[in-house]
Parts: sequence; structure tokens; C-alpha cells
Amino acid sequence: MGGLLKVDVSPLLGEAGATLEVDTEVPLEAMTVGDSHVKFEEPPRLRVILANAGEVIVASGTVQAAARLDCTRCLEPFDLDLVGTVDAVISPTEDPELIDEDQEWYPLEGDAVDLFAAADAALRVEVPFAPVHDEACLGICPICGCDRNRDTCACRQEPDTASENPFAVLKDLVPPTED
Ligand SMILES: [Zn+2]
Ligand SMILES: [Zn+2]
Repeated sequence: MGGLLKVDVSPLLGEAGATLEVDTEVPLEAMTVGDSHVKFEEPPRLRVILANAGEVIVASGTVQAAARLDCTRCLEPFDLDLVGTVDAVISPTEDPELIDEDQEWYPLEGDAVDLFAAADAALRVEVPFAPVHDEACLGICPICGCDRNRDTCACRQEPDTASENPFAVLKDLVPPTED
């Protein structure tokens, strides 16, 4: 959850137009997004340019990570490169004159800002809702539990219409048409 990624922005303060390049590791080992459990064997990398835009500091860049996820069909772990976009404003106060309502912003605390939440949020939106190791993954046989990518089983492959067809229930509601 709440990691810490303090960045000293003192070189920027008091000089409109000044920029600062930040290239740092994000202390993040894992995250859960919906049903996806994501592991990072190497810390994700945050690369942003901070710019003094007068009243606020603007942060823009990317966060990159080699993520390990579990395929939701066959349950095998697989690797996926994630690249998130950071586009945030850093301000001493949440002043509506300076920050749009839908703009992501982070507080300036003295001469520093904590960019952990910005990096975490940028990666989080890149995690697929139902990750699959391959779009063609055949998944696990619901009858015998074998991995159908590797094994061919003799189970009957009749579709289970009652549970899989979302319209099956309508069959009972709509009177059959007479020919
Ligand atoms: Zn799979
Ligand atoms: Zn089977």
C-alpha cells in the first residue's frame, strides 16, 4: 500500500521554467487490481520531468515495470511489460484556481513531493482486467482440470448451455414461435 518515494524539488523552487529530471526506482513489490495479482521482481522504474510552471510544478513521464501475472484462463504465471503515463500537478495547496477538478495532483511538502501514489496509480490503470498469457489460451478443462494448452483430454466438449449462455433463461420466457 503506502510506499514512500520522496523527491527533493528544491532545485526547482523559485525559478519559473526550471526543470528537473527524475529517474528512480519505485519501492513496489506487488499490487492487486480487481482479480489480478501483480508481482514485480524488479522495482518499477519512474522517469519523469518535473517543471516549475510558476504557481505549480508539473510532472510528466512514465513508469515502467516487468510485471508477473497469473493467466485467468489457465492460471499459469506469465510476464507482461507495463508502461504507465504520469501526468500530474504538484501544488502546495489544492487551489481550484490552479488545479482543474479532474487533474491528478499531489501536495508539495516543504521542498519535497511523494511521487509513490502517482507511480502506483499510473501502473494500476495498465493492469488488464482479466489477464491472459495468450489470447489463444485454451484454459483449463472444467471437467478434468487439465491444462488444455498442453494436454488433450477425452472429456466430452459439449457446451454447457444452461450456465454459459446468458440468454438461456430467456428461452423459458419467450413462447416458442409456431411454424
Ligand atoms: Zn493461459
Ligand atoms: Zn478434460
